[in-house]
Order: sequence, then C-alpha cells, then structure tokens
Amino acid sequence: MYLISPHLPQFKANLHCHSTCSDGKLTPEELVSAYRNEGYAILAITDHESPRNHSSLSTEDFLLLTGYEAYIRTDPHCTYDVFAPETHLNLFAREPDNETLICYNPSCCKYLTLDKQQQLTKAGSERPREYTVAYINEFIRTANENGYLVSYNHPVWSMESEERILAYEGYFSLELINGNSHMRHKMEYNAPLYHALLRSGKFVHVHAGDDNHNSKSESDSFLAATMISAPSLTYKNVIDAMEKGDMYATEAPVFHSIAFDGERVTVECSPVSLITCHVGSKNPSFVCGDGDLTHAVLDVPQGARYVRVSVTDQNGRHADTRAYSREELGLFPL
Ligand SMILES: [Zn+2]
Ligand SMILES: [Zn+2]
Repeated sequence: MYLISPHLPQFKANLHCHSTCSDGKLTPEELVSAYRNEGYAILAITDHESPRNHSSLSTEDFLLLTGYEAYIRTDPHCTYDVFAPETHLNLFAREPDNETLICYNPSCCKYLTLDKQQQLTKAGSERPREYTVAYINEFIRTANENGYLVSYNHPVWSMESEERILAYEGYFSLELINGNSHMRHKMEYNAPLYHALLRSGKFVHVHAGDDNHNSKSESDSFLAATMISAPSLTYKNVIDAMEKGDMYATEAPVFHSIAFDGERVTVECSPVSLITCHVGSKNPSFVCGDGDLTHAVLDVPQGARYVRVSVTDQNGRHADTRAYSREELGLFPL
C-alpha cells in the first residue's frame, strides 16, 4: 500500500496566510500572484477573525480555500499580551461560501467593519471568551458542527503548555511547522510535541504554513508548505484530502512516494541527508547520507505503534508525514 502515492498529483499549498483583510501587507490578489509564481496551487488566506470567501480569485490551476484564524486569549476582550499564552486555530471551510463566525465576540473582530460583522452568519456562544480547555474545546466543536476543519496553530509561539495541548479535542491537524515563527525565532518545529500527542493516542494529521504577513523587509513567504495529494484541484477534492490526511508538511524536501509492504517502508524523495521511519519506540530506523539520499528501505518492527516518515536535507530543512495507525496499515491490533 502507498502512504504517499506516486499516482496522485501533489498540490503545493500555503494553509496559513494573512492579507490586507487583517494585518498582512499584501492584498489577496498580490498573494495569489506571488504564490502562483512560486509553484503553489492552493492558498488559504486565513485573516484574523475575518472569514472570507476568496473564490472569485480561484482559477483552473489555482485554488483559494475559505477560512480564517481565530484566537482565544487570557483577556476576554482579546487584548494582546506578549507574555501571556493564547490559542490560535485555523478554520478551513468545507464549502467555499461558508463565512460563519464562530463564538462571535465583537472585541476580537477588529478587522471587520461593524456592517460586515452584522451581515455574517454566527454560530455558538457569544459570551466573553475564556482561556480554558473547556471553552476552547467548545469552540472547536462548534466550528466542526458549522462546516469547518480546525487546525491547531504554532503552539510554541503561543506559549501553551503540553498538558493543555494534550487536552484539546476535535482539531484535525497540528501545524507542525510555522514558517514565520521558525524563521524569526527558530522555534516552531513541533515533531517532539507531535510524538507526545501520538503517545497519548491523539492521531491528528500534520501540515505546515507560512503564517506570512509580508510586513518586514525580510520575506516570510515560501518557508513552509503543505503538499496535498488529491485526484484533481477542486475545492471538494482538496478539503477531502486534507480531512483524510493525504498531505504532509515540508520546508523544502519532497516525498515522491512512500510504500508499506507490511514489514518495511520504501521512501522515494528529493535529495536529503537523513531519512527516518518513526514507529513510536525509542529506536526509529534511519539512513544517513551526504545530502544525496533519494531512496531508503526501512524496517518496521512488529510492535510498531504507527509509521511516520521524516527527512532532513543538507540545509536542515524538514519534511514530515503524519502518523499512519496500525489499523490503517492493516496490522493486527496489539
Ligand atoms: Zn496565529
Ligand atoms: Zn497567523
């Protein structure tokens, strides 16, 4: 079986992006042009508390996903505090015309005019936001019930404790790499956190995003992408592929295919220095090279808790798959 099929096209996506509709510097049109020129096929413009359907910018070879980034802060009126933890979630609409505001709170919506706030459909409790696990789980559940896939964003930058993160329920994917935080602060590569989630039985998917604002002289675009395998570039196919986990996170390396035959994985990829197969034990199997490795066959022990593959290239850039469970792999239950 294939974990990443060579028979499906891979579409390059940026699933975390800010425009002039919130605190980004580039307009949606400028972002589409920039990302298309860099070989991307998918862009989710996820402005802060600003759900927007940008489908009028979609073309046959470039797809806009509707969504937004929501935040829950320790201050119920959403005031930013650089020393306080907070939770950021990206909401990806299953249908392009879904612009529902979840758990509406006017003080969080500073980038939407009052008129626009009044026009939008709203769902969920409108009480002041609470920085509690219970409230955040209620927020995620409400978003799921109202047509969104919810991702959990940049936990390191958000300064959330691992204990809290392990208690969150209902999000479909962890932002394994956040380009902005990784580039600016060298701190947002979340493989250890992902392994902790897997050990606690939370088999969420993984993805990466630039979280670009393009407001500084140094570009924060094109740093971290999600490669999505889908039969074709339609809104439904892409959202379905994301929900199924037919995607992986990358800072540059590409997986051409990953196959599993019941005892070993065979990885074909762009040139890298390290290919690792993680199985939930202290001893992952791996091969090292001088930056020219493009192929590896790695053993999977009988007691493997899951299979997931990561690679690192000569410049230290990663690509990571999600974990595939024993059940998915057709292995007998432990
Ligand atoms: Zn954020
Ligand atoms: Zn963001």
